[in-house]
Amino acid sequence: MLYYEPRLTVIARPAFSEPAHLPVQWGGEGTDGEHLAEFAGRLCYMSQRNPAGRTTREYLVNILKQGHGSVLEHANYSLLLEGVSRSLTHELVRHRAGFAYSQLSQRYVDESEAAFVVPPAIIGDTALESAWKTQIESAQQAYVALVSELMARYAWVDDKVHRRKMAREAARGVLPNSTETKIVVTANARAWRTMLELRSSEGAELEIRRLAVLAIRVLQAEAPGFFGDLEVYTADDRREAARITYHKV
Ligand SMILES: Cc1cc2nc3c(=O)[nH]c(=O)nc-3n(C[C@H](O)[C@H](O)[C@H](O)COP(=O)(O)OP(=O)(O)OC[C@H]3O[C@@H](n4cnc5c(N)ncnc54)[C@H](O)[C@@H]3O)c2cc1C
Repeated sequence: MLYYEPRLTVIARPAFSEPAHLPVQWGGEGTDGEHLAEFAGRLCYMSQRNPAGRTTREYLVNILKQGHGSVLEHANYSLLLEGVSRSLTHELVRHRAGFAYSQLSQRYVDESEAAFVVPPAIIGDTALESAWKTQIESAQQAYVALVSELMARYAWVDDKVHRRKMAREAARGVLPNSTETKIVVTANARAWRTMLELRSSEGAELEIRRLAVLAIRVLQAEAPGFFGDLEVYTADDRREAARITYHKV
């Protein structure tokens, strides 16, 4: 199976419970994540009465402008990513502060029927796609053969789960960077902003850039107050990229 685009699902978002004894004078629309951040921010100055009469989104824009980024750390979003390559996740997991990851294991999971992610730069060119596919198929055949030979070589290992793990961990060495993987990524809104800014930029690798642009759209729908200043545009290379108004706070 080949993936031509990633699949992204929001699997967790903040649930805010406003304390009855410290109610906020809310303005305009706001999601739980945005209200949580506003509540935390207002607590710093006990400004729950909202003397400036700001809407939640105006309040959050002001937080972004002022660089008061720690307020955004209260709101976490978990995304399930599928149809992404191992090379993409290798880059993604470099983002450390505020991030948590759980990724499919190539030692425990059989990859003999693994899917592969077509590199975006190749999509649409039949000759390139065919050359790439030939290499992928050959790698997968080598993987299947190696697993089988290694299982035979280590037949003396009684624990079958352990034996399979030994076989798969060695055989996966021939699997390409384009092998599809799945990963759950949780991060707070501040951390997401940093990652999205870096990985949606024109300098980022095309697959992770495409994912970042998709994540921007999804997270903007979740919480415009956190992500509304990321603007998607079409760059000179005819691919989408994004720029941010309030740089890395
Ligand atoms: C276009 C592009 C090309 C890249 N090319 C390469 C490459 O060729 N080789 C390579 O190895 N990497 C490469 N990277 C990865 C890059 O070096 C970073 O590892 C990655 O972008 C994560 O950035 P970060 O450390 O700022 O993020 P995070 O780890 O999420 O950190 C966010 C911020 O928290 C603070 N922080 C986090 N940890 C610490 C700490 N330990 N000490 C002090 N402050 C901290 C810093 O302010 C940091 O910017 C590339 C990244 C991009 C976007």
